[in-house]
Amino acid sequence: MDRFCVFCGKRPINKNAEHILPEWLLKLTGDINRTFTLNTFSMQGSSPREFSASKFKFPACTKCNIDYSELEGKAKGVMEDVLSLKPMSEEQWIILLDWFDKVRIGLWLGFIYLDKNPFGVRPNFHIDSRLGMTDRALLIAQRRGPSLRCTFAGSGTPYFHLRPFCFSLTVNHMSFINIAEQNLVSYRLGMPYMNEKQLRLDGRIHGELYSGTGKIRTPVIQLPFNCNETVIMQPIASGVSELLMEPESFESDYFIRNAKDSKRGVGHVWIGNDKPEKYPVQPSSIWVPEVVQERESFVISHTLLVYEMLLKASKKRLDLTLFPKDRQLEYRKTRNLCSRIYENTIPKIQELRKKAELEEGP
Ligand SMILES: [Zn+2]
Repeated sequence: MDRFCVFCGKRPINKNAEHILPEWLLKLTGDINRTFTLNTFSMQGSSPREFSASKFKFPACTKCNIDYSELEGKAKGVMEDVLSLKPMSEEQWIILLDWFDKVRIGLWLGFIYLDKNPFGVRPNFHIDSRLGMTDRALLIAQRRGPSLRCTFAGSGTPYFHLRPFCFSLTVNHMSFINIAEQNLVSYRLGMPYMNEKQLRLDGRIHGELYSGTGKIRTPVIQLPFNCNETVIMQPIASGVSELLMEPESFESDYFIRNAKDSKRGVGHVWIGNDKPEKYPVQPSSIWVPEVVQERESFVISHTLLVYEMLLKASKKRLDLTLFPKDRQLEYRKTRNLCSRIYENTIPKIQELRKKAELEEGP
């Protein structure tokens, strides 16, 4: 496979290496030279694999890497504040949401490299083109007891290879489930939303943009479990293609009132899945999770349940007519293959989930 920069997707200029899990995160969570165990999937099935944390890095241009170092610097400060349960501002959540977009897409591209691209996915977007482009959410939980750890789940599943919707990251005593998907929260927050229709050659998805109802429906994300986590979410309609964009969609009073950047279709940050409210601009402690979890296993179980939920929602067919015939075939083949592998792994996932729930206790 040709080498590409994880940020811009082009052949790396002045080649450099990007740590998908940045050094500050590794330092914050233990020995920087420790090994990680990753479950990865291939056509032959899944297998655990060990590798050195500090070597989990992939090609990038020097300039791209420098451009993103500012976000890394800010994200480090925000993560430290979250770990200390400090009051958080809306702006800080946006930094963290951007950072999670970066890590999620970075992991996706990283696994394509690591697994030698087992499903033949052609990465048609990179970090540059996906940061802050779709609705996104963070489910945040606190666990009892101090401990140094950095683990992630969900990113080794076959479907993550095709569409990197969701993954979870545990940083010491805090766990985050990150979900990013077109129309994850927009419609139910009354904001302009997109109906996915057509996959474009550049990997962006065409759709029709609807104005939004101006009414809130709860729960905003219809999670298939009892959610004790704090839910932070941001509606974003920027990923909508310019061609089908109707400016009127962004002109309703409700939208203007709730928009952070009305020209780009970016909404404010909200908190609370059952009783959503706009997140305060000034630092606030309303985000601190009320429930302190005794164990960590619920994170895996919840991440996998989110996956099942997203998979069910993505069953509808995308129009691929913009693609040449051979690429259409290739895409369908990859998608069917992923579904088949996923269906084979569902029993295993359910088993894992049951085990996690048993450990969790009532
Ligand atoms: Zn680059």
